[in-house]
Amino acid sequence: MTGEGERRPLPPGSTIGMIGGGQLGRMAALAAARLGYRVHVFSPEADSPAAQVSAAVTVADYSDQAAIEDFACKVDVVTFEFENIPAESVRHLAAHVPVRPCWSVLEVAQDRVAEKRFFASIGAATAPWRPVSGLDDLAEAVAAIGRPAVLKTARLGYDGKGQVKIGPDTDLAEAWAALGSGLADSGAGVLEGFIDFAGEISVIVARGVDGDWAAFDPVWNVHRNHILDTTTAPAPIAPALAARAMDIAHRAAEALGVVGLLAVEMFVTADGLLVNEMAPRPHNSGHWTMDACITDQFEQFIRAVCALPLGSPERHSDAEMKNLIGDDVERWLEILDDPHAKLHLYGKSEARPGRKMGHVNRIAPRADRPGV
Ligand code: AMP
Repeated sequence: MTGEGERRPLPPGSTIGMIGGGQLGRMAALAAARLGYRVHVFSPEADSPAAQVSAAVTVADYSDQAAIEDFACKVDVVTFEFENIPAESVRHLAAHVPVRPCWSVLEVAQDRVAEKRFFASIGAATAPWRPVSGLDDLAEAVAAIGRPAVLKTARLGYDGKGQVKIGPDTDLAEAWAALGSGLADSGAGVLEGFIDFAGEISVIVARGVDGDWAAFDPVWNVHRNHILDTTTAPAPIAPALAARAMDIAHRAAEALGVVGLLAVEMFVTADGLLVNEMAPRPHNSGHWTMDACITDQFEQFIRAVCALPLGSPERHSDAEMKNLIGDDVERWLEILDDPHAKLHLYGKSEARPGRKMGHVNRIAPRADRPGV
């Protein structure tokens, strides 16, 4: 799919097609604009966060093949800020224009079963798991894995949606029913052992068309109500563990042939690292890089997708990122009052509970480089 011509750097002034209109697309579009590119957003939502800052937008459903084809003819490369789009649409896109990362990467990332099998294939451990496609399967899986456990939809889950915890007294029929529409959409689930982790970390790695790569430092993530609350950079973990986490992310990007970014989330346990999940795009746990690294994740994403040389991911400062969820965004003026806080808002008009409205980065000199 990537002929030699397609590996050449895409010159500034070219148009990047962005599938998805959320905040990740918005921040990527801003980074693209800094490098002189135009972004054309494809999103079912009118006035999406990404469309507000982009040169062009197509408002249509991800399964609208005529709209997809028209979009493909107007852009020079296609990438994603949202990966749950139909395979058929990606096939249509790829017939006209380079798609980075390619479909096979999205296919693995869309499906927890494929994802877990993939990580096993590269020697990276995950929580114990079993595929589950019915109540009988679930009973067998719970008997094999034990309680507590977590039942998840195999597809279309995010921010804890499509998940049910199975405790000592949970009725399995109720748990199965609770997953409800998620399972109806996807047809399958996964049962995972509940991990009593010391913490959660993630690594974002960028990989270019020629296999060059650069990873950001591993970071420490704290979730609240299953949604990322804060990210601390660097993660307070031993250097050997940080190196192992970066190696897992790099090997995954390499094995998948990612061109773009790959974010890998992991649990830190007494027995080492367990991979939770991955995303082949910019990630919420990389927002701190906007104010604390020489090249941030969004610029790195655009560089990779446009076949440009990657920039340095070096962390010049320590950072804490806090998500502004729902009503948190009302504190915007108070945050701006703190001269060391960097506020990033996503242009969403309605602050619904659980909705990511923005984030704030607070940076400090690197603790490991006193006096610099
Ligand atoms: P996920 O959508 O899989 O990223 O899950 C969202 C969050 O739920 C994770 O970041 C963890 O905090 C928690 N979680 C998910 N799976 C497990 C597990 N197997 N054991 C313990 N906590 C989990």
